[in-house]
Amino acid sequence: MKAFIYNALPARILFGAVAADVLPAEIERLSRRRALLLSTPGQAEMVAEIARGIGAVTAGLFSEAAMHTPVEVTELALRALHQADADCIVAIGGGSTIGLGKALALRTDLPQIAVPTTYAGSEVTPILGQTEAGRKTTLRSPKVLPEVVIYDTALTLSMPAGLTVTSGMNAIAHAVEALWAQDSNPVIDLLAERGIAALARSLPVLVQDASDPEARSDAQFGTWASGTCLGAVGMSLHHKLCHVLGGSFDLPHSETHTIILPHVVAALLPKLPQMRETLVRILGTDTPAGRLYDIPAAFHASMALRDIGMPHQGIAQAVREVFESSYWMPASVSEKEMEMLLDNAWYGRRPEGI
Ligand code: NAD
Repeated sequence: MKAFIYNALPARILFGAVAADVLPAEIERLSRRRALLLSTPGQAEMVAEIARGIGAVTAGLFSEAAMHTPVEVTELALRALHQADADCIVAIGGGSTIGLGKALALRTDLPQIAVPTTYAGSEVTPILGQTEAGRKTTLRSPKVLPEVVIYDTALTLSMPAGLTVTSGMNAIAHAVEALWAQDSNPVIDLLAERGIAALARSLPVLVQDASDPEARSDAQFGTWASGTCLGAVGMSLHHKLCHVLGGSFDLPHSETHTIILPHVVAALLPKLPQMRETLVRILGTDTPAGRLYDIPAAFHASMALRDIGMPHQGIAQAVREVFESSYWMPASVSEKEMEMLLDNAWYGRRPEGI
């Protein structure tokens, strides 16, 4: 076994719990009494119902969470937190709501309980992306890592098919990049393999039956495993490309990950034979990049950058931006190859034979 460093992140994970049943005891366990519950406007009613269920420990509700954690929204939430005299944060929702919880924890040091309702995986990472004046910056700090995560499968049943598959592909991307990370290690490799396998197995079942409880639970386990990978090791080409595309062209987060992943895998696997063997084994196919394309395509997800608002002439700018920033790459990719990768993603071509 080669030498390695593994930084374990502290978190209490409750898997397969009913959030409304366990929240009061979890809040008490943190020695807290008054929780501010966070949501997006679209999930406000669902969270209000949970608030009614948990009764006195609800100090207030703030339901304005928005994509990419705009600082203006965080400031409004901070005011609501103080007005409610809350002593802890409960974020119930996808990556956007959990991002708001993290932004509040960064500013107040209050403990957080995250109840994820998508597969984005943010709940188990010490990473926070925030937007100020249209510019997104990302930071890593133990302060933003939620202390408790409650995985309640029932809360994922309402996820629309599109979000089911795109947030699931977002999670797979965390695990794939963990396998070829510079600081990869055997502990995270195990989680990455389990995460990819669980999501690749469950997402196709959810195309047929979105409320299959076993597949929903499997997907949520894959989310925890893959999100833990994102929190523990460094990401590279795939996340970098998605960050550039999201930031420069305002493309939607999980849809961009879904489109880009098969093309990054197709570009890198010929240069990484061991990684190819691993993905062939996990996905049970000789063409892993093709499989990572077929899973979302079966949900009729957008598979082309041109369909989600990227202009074709933006490719040159994106290549330039990726090459301007310095970051570790699992294998070298030339500007020409990067341009081809983005051209394939722009047209939504299925990677063949890889
Ligand atoms: P999201 O949180 O933006 O949710 C998208 C929409 O779906 C929202 O309107 C939300 O209310 C709704 N929704 C969520 N769960 C639902 C459910 N079960 N049923 C019905 N509707 C539901 O989407 P996301 O993909 O989870 O998160 C994306 C955001 O998370 C991005 O801003 C991204 O940068 C961030 N993110 C951060 C990390 C990290 O580690 N910091 C990791 C992954 C993603």
